[in-house]
Amino acid sequence: MKCIFCKIVKKELPCSKVYEDKDFLALMDIKPINKGHVLVIPKKHSELISEMNKTDISKMMVVAEKISSAIRKSRIRCRGINFFLADGRTAGQEVLHVHLHVIPRFLNDGFGFKFPDNYGDKPSKKELERLAEKIKRGLD
Ligand SMILES: [Zn+2]
Repeated sequence: MKCIFCKIVKKELPCSKVYEDKDFLALMDIKPINKGHVLVIPKKHSELISEMNKTDISKMMVVAEKISSAIRKSRIRCRGINFFLADGRTAGQEVLHVHLHVIPRFLNDGFGFKFPDNYGDKPSKKELERLAEKIKRGLD
């Protein structure tokens, strides 16, 4: 088992723990975007969110909200919070074990999303409908 998060869950590697219950662990990110950057990880290994059961997917957000509220109450610099989950390498996932980032944000903190050059171009209603149909076909 090479997964670094599974090793942390099994206490084979140390972490700075913020929260733990039977299904989740929340820990300080060792490469924080801002001070107070926390990762919420399911204890059960899944590479992608689609491999998790629906109950755990829901619980993960509940844990993340709990952490975000605690960050807001703390004296950590925070004017907003980003919840970020990279699902797949191409989406920026570095550790292939699901993790939800809880990132404190403040003005001019240097972090942000880079948008493509065509961002802001509005697709036609027809194209939006066509794309919605494609996605709806995959819902069950
Ligand atoms: Zn793992």
